[in-house]
Amino acid sequence: MKLVQETPFRFRIERHGPMRVPGVVFTTPDLLPEEEALRQVANVATLPGIVRASYAMPDLHWGYGFPIGGVAATDVAAGGVVSPGGVGFDISCGVRLLAADLLREQLAPRLNRLMDELDLATPRGLGRGGVWPLPGSAQLGRVLREGARYAVEQGHGVPRDLDRCEDQGAVAGADPAQVSGRAVERGAVQVGSLGSGNHFLEVQAVTEIYDAEVAAAFGLRLGQVCVMIHCGSRGLGHQICSEHVRSMDKAMARYGIHVPDRQLACAPVDSPEGRAYLGAMAAAANYGRANRQLLSEAARRVFERVTGAALDLVYDVSHNMAKLEEHDGHRLCVHRKGATLALPPHHPGLPADLAPFGQPVFIPGTMGTASHVLTGVADGPAFHSTCHGAGRVQSRHQAARSIQGRDLRDRLEARGIAVRASSWRGLSEETPTAYKDVDAVVAAGVGAGLCGNVARLVPLGVVKG
Ligand code: 5GP
Ligand code: MN
Ligand code: MN
Repeated sequence: MKLVQETPFRFRIERHGPMRVPGVVFTTPDLLPEEEALRQVANVATLPGIVRASYAMPDLHWGYGFPIGGVAATDVAAGGVVSPGGVGFDISCGVRLLAADLLREQLAPRLNRLMDELDLATPRGLGRGGVWPLPGSAQLGRVLREGARYAVEQGHGVPRDLDRCEDQGAVAGADPAQVSGRAVERGAVQVGSLGSGNHFLEVQAVTEIYDAEVAAAFGLRLGQVCVMIHCGSRGLGHQICSEHVRSMDKAMARYGIHVPDRQLACAPVDSPEGRAYLGAMAAAANYGRANRQLLSEAARRVFERVTGAALDLVYDVSHNMAKLEEHDGHRLCVHRKGATLALPPHHPGLPADLAPFGQPVFIPGTMGTASHVLTGVADGPAFHSTCHGAGRVQSRHQAARSIQGRDLRDRLEARGIAVRASSWRGLSEETPTAYKDVDAVVAAGVGAGLCGNVARLVPLGVVKG
């Protein structure tokens, strides 16, 4: 496969074989992933209706069918497809950041107690229930349609929170009728839970401000304590993805669609299968948003009790979604898988007070290194998208073989990072050495013109899924 470096931060995979558009990888030579992930970028370029390019972010790595860190948009009017693999199994997985009116030194004497209480207040691991045992299926229906808005209406949060959520906390077009009984069954018992492994609730401190004006607008200052939450739509989203991959795999032949990898199963956006998936996906996205809202409300209560400080939501944004968006007068279905929406300044989707600055974007790094706050910029070259994390360099299996969970905990604790794990195996799978250097990934994103850097945060304590 021919990879051409076009600029210091941009590589091109020339069209070859059935590719309909080129591949464009925003990265640096140091961050380039294994050939397999690049092959996936090329595979995505074969999808019917794809426009401009199959894009990849600097945290690119191998995923199910589509790479993680991939962005692909299809033109709905031109028979463009939607593919569940282009969203991923954890539909609307995303990150929110809450900022405390509290400085790192003020928290220090109470950090351990805070972490103990957050540990107890955060349901996680496989199965095992959530903070919100739903009284019945009518309530789950409202979660699926109204997302974080329903959670806030029921007293889990304040109206301002919704102003600081992508889509004001709920996406349109959710169709709970497309959510199977099995998905409902899995979802009903997990509302308000973190999930496993890569998902976390982290207490962090701001150590670097790169853009003082934007940081101030986001409510961030040097030394400030923040809480970052990363989780998604749990078993419900996973079930929906699996079922719709299967149904599209069967339907593809009927639409005359051929893909180089069955994991790219897709159907026209404008088809019964496409509509069914998008309706179910939006319902799962709302579930994911309610989930993050409930977990942050549980964290807020603990935080206030232990420290006396309030937590204000900076923003909440997904990194596994497909959205129908208008670009250059065309209605596109934009898939972002392990890629974050990053709206530019003055975009109508922004809350009024953030309009001059662009949308906040959160890039978790690892529990032992750093995380970043970014902002959307004008003329973002990949449909207003940027990276979503550091991105893996080791599989979970390789990571777990490289270190024991207990040893990892001891090493992090020795560096002053309080660790509350739910499983030793899960912890070792997330060892910081399993990921790329988040600072380099962010620098590549900024260099490529995908985003602006606002602030850097370091971990003080982590509640690991
Ligand atoms: P994903 O959505 O791909 O599972 O994870 C997104 C990113 O989260 C990963 O690429 C990784 O950089 C980051 N990450 C995973 N675990 C942790 C953690 O415990 N703390 C922080 N700050 N980041 C993490
Ligand atoms: Mn996830
Ligand atoms: Mn995620």
